[in-house]
Amino acid sequence: MNDLTFSDLWLGTLGTIISYTMIISILLVTLLASVRLLLSRRKIGYFSLMLSLIILIIQYAQLIAFEFTETQSDTSTFIALLLKVVSFLLVNTGIYQLYNPTKWKDTIVFIVCSAATVFVAVSYWYIPVWLQGSGDQVLLMQPLGMELFLFLLIFVSFILINPRIGQNGKYQLMLTLYFCSHMIHMANMYLFGSSQIVLTKFEQLIPMAFHLVLFLFIFERIIEIMQAIYNSSITDGLTKLYNRKYFYNRVSQHIAQQLKVSVIFSDIDNFKKLNDTKGHHMGDLVLKQVAQIVKEEAEPIGVCGRYGGEEMVVLVTDTEVDTAELAERIRARVEAETIVTVSMGFSHFRKNITADELIKQADEAMYKAKTSGKNKVVAFG
Ligand code: GH3
Ligand code: MG
Ligand code: MG
Repeated sequence: MNDLTFSDLWLGTLGTIISYTMIISILLVTLLASVRLLLSRRKIGYFSLMLSLIILIIQYAQLIAFEFTETQSDTSTFIALLLKVVSFLLVNTGIYQLYNPTKWKDTIVFIVCSAATVFVAVSYWYIPVWLQGSGDQVLLMQPLGMELFLFLLIFVSFILINPRIGQNGKYQLMLTLYFCSHMIHMANMYLFGSSQIVLTKFEQLIPMAFHLVLFLFIFERIIEIMQAIYNSSITDGLTKLYNRKYFYNRVSQHIAQQLKVSVIFSDIDNFKKLNDTKGHHMGDLVLKQVAQIVKEEAEPIGVCGRYGGEEMVVLVTDTEVDTAELAERIRARVEAETIVTVSMGFSHFRKNITADELIKQADEAMYKAKTSGKNKVVAFG
């Protein structure tokens, strides 16, 4: 071991094995993250991503195996190339599916690409039949179809996938890295007969960078998806306000800390009539408008929620804010900017009060506003 020089480690067989082992490690971590995603989402679209990672691992395991064998057979070179093309095709399909539901149009594009892959793969075996030349020339021409096809796939990915996904910067970097690595591979093979050790090293290092970026890409997407799942579990789909459960939890948290909060409870006046006369669609639109006003006025100073059908609530956490004034501002804006009015009630924190009681008091105050003419703000007590 003492004779091992830096250049052995860096450029020799050992260096190659180290590079590929590192790529496999990155791929394994990426695969683990993807399995987590597939298990929690159970979306069949994520399957192609996992499959592509498994194929990539097999591809690099085979490249390591090549380092131990003197000569490669036609078949093993073919399999290596095929794995390279198929994994690239699947990685890009997987990336697309991380951002898009699978539509039949996409399936057709995928089938066309797969059919082209099969066609090009077949050319590998027919080129020796079609071409005349020395054994070496034929050997060099044989993989050309598949190698050039990879360039086409990079181009197609850029045109078709890049505009339809997020994290475009990372994706473009990945395609650029892949393109560079493939260019170097082609130059090394066709110009230098694979004799340039430094180029060979680049052929190993650039894919490592590619797989690192791929890992970051998938990792970030998983975080995005988890974040979206969490957000949709605490918000209401129509108004985008927090839902009742989340709102209640926030009130409880503040009360537990004895913070001097207030709760505003609002209910749209005669909403049933609006639904009956103008339709549910109009009802929904008005709900969104009122929610938007509540959000604009109250979000900076507290938590806004949709408590029930057309009941919106605010937890005022900023003690500097005059709750009565805030409620009145919301009421006035709803009256001025929409075709409905709201009745509102509010109540302040007092010692030993529970979250349920505080909300109930605000609701009672709102009820008083309803029974005393609507379109007004009433304080509890
Ligand atoms: P009041 O002034 O006494 O509040 O009268 P109201 O008609 O508003 O009475 P109520 O609060 O009982 O009616 C609520 C109506 O809100 C009933 C339901 O049809 C409607 N509603 C609840 N959720 C939605 C929704 O998501 N969209 C639409 N369009 N309507 C909803
Ligand atoms: Mg109502
Ligand atoms: Mg109501």
